[in-house]
Amino acid sequence: MPAGLRSGLVSAPRALRIERGARTGQPIIISLDSTELGPALGGCRIKPYASWRDGMDDALRLSAAMTAKAALAEMPYGGGKAVVALSPGTAAHYAGAHRGDLLADVGEAVESFDGSYITGPDVGTSPDDMAVIGRRTRHVLCRPQHAGGSGDSSAPTAAGVLACIDAVRDRVFDGRPARRLTFAIQGLGHVGALIAGASLVVADTEPGRQRLANRWRARVAAPEQLLTSEADILVPAALGATLTPQAVPALRCRAIVGPANNQLAGDSVADLLHAQGITWAPDPVVSAGGIVASVAREISHLADPEVQNLLAAIGDRLGALLDESARSGRPPLTVAQQRLRQVLTQAQAPAGPHPTVATA
Ligand code: NAD
Repeated sequence: MPAGLRSGLVSAPRALRIERGARTGQPIIISLDSTELGPALGGCRIKPYASWRDGMDDALRLSAAMTAKAALAEMPYGGGKAVVALSPGTAAHYAGAHRGDLLADVGEAVESFDGSYITGPDVGTSPDDMAVIGRRTRHVLCRPQHAGGSGDSSAPTAAGVLACIDAVRDRVFDGRPARRLTFAIQGLGHVGALIAGASLVVADTEPGRQRLANRWRARVAAPEQLLTSEADILVPAALGATLTPQAVPALRCRAIVGPANNQLAGDSVADLLHAQGITWAPDPVVSAGGIVASVAREISHLADPEVQNLLAAIGDRLGALLDESARSGRPPLTVAQQRLRQVLTQAQAPAGPHPTVATA
């Protein structure tokens, strides 16, 4: 089991289906890590892999992470993932005229789960792709608004991150206003660009995105130096696994709160951060805004004020987790793992009580 919240947990019943698309012959891998709490939620990743087995490994790992994300957000949903493991050299082919065939294959694969798997965008797929997939199945989230969906999930994801930053301001910085804190933002993409606003140091590997820094009067750091920039809060909003045992001693921040999935290179990094007095907010909790809002809007049909309340509750949930961490002296990852284990164990118990779940 790779690093992350599912480490050390008994593995849940799991469905894994690997098939070749009827039109394209490309491997479509769908992993349902857990359906105890409800249908498995998780996006569809389309990218080239050296081998379909690498795609399968990604599907297993990412679907387990989705189980943690949905359960810790107290949603009545499990975790799943679809991966289309494109053969090397075919990415351009399936980005162009043949994309419709590939997405039709995906739509039929999703539909074959009859609602126990619900897909959405991920690396290599967009809301527009979801509209095409949606011609074959209704079990798809985040189609564009004009196509009946809730569209791109970056804004609610950023809202969840901001709610978590508030929870950390209250607990680590005695409620100091954001305008008096320095943020170091790693990655100015869809989500990172929405976090900006206070005193900033930023980095992005795309020179075009660095230009956003001028608008905010932010200091631009070289991407490889961002992690060691002096800042109150580090916001990982680029890739996963950037927090390594080697990187931790050089960090110069007091807290880490960001949307990037799977930030820790291994569970031991959580202990190192804790020992160094750095508060790390577990990313499955922080990054849940996208799934919380899309499910609330498209499945629960909630109105905007209710959706905003659910996004604010992400910060409350992180706050409770950090309070428990402070009380018990255990790292936030350990507290989150224990919470997850409780929720899943209750869900697996044949006659046991059902976990409390929100309506989203
Ligand atoms: P994105 O691809 O739009 O942005 C990522 C940015 O990071 C890009 O601008 C890229 O150039 C930059 N980058 C890549 N490597 C970098 C490096 N070494 N240093 C600095 N910058 C680097 O992605 P996004 O949608 O903004 O998502 C950001 C993170 O949050 C990802 O890890 C994603 O998986 C996660 N996430 C996103 C959502 C969502 O709704 N978009 C939801 C949950 C989690």
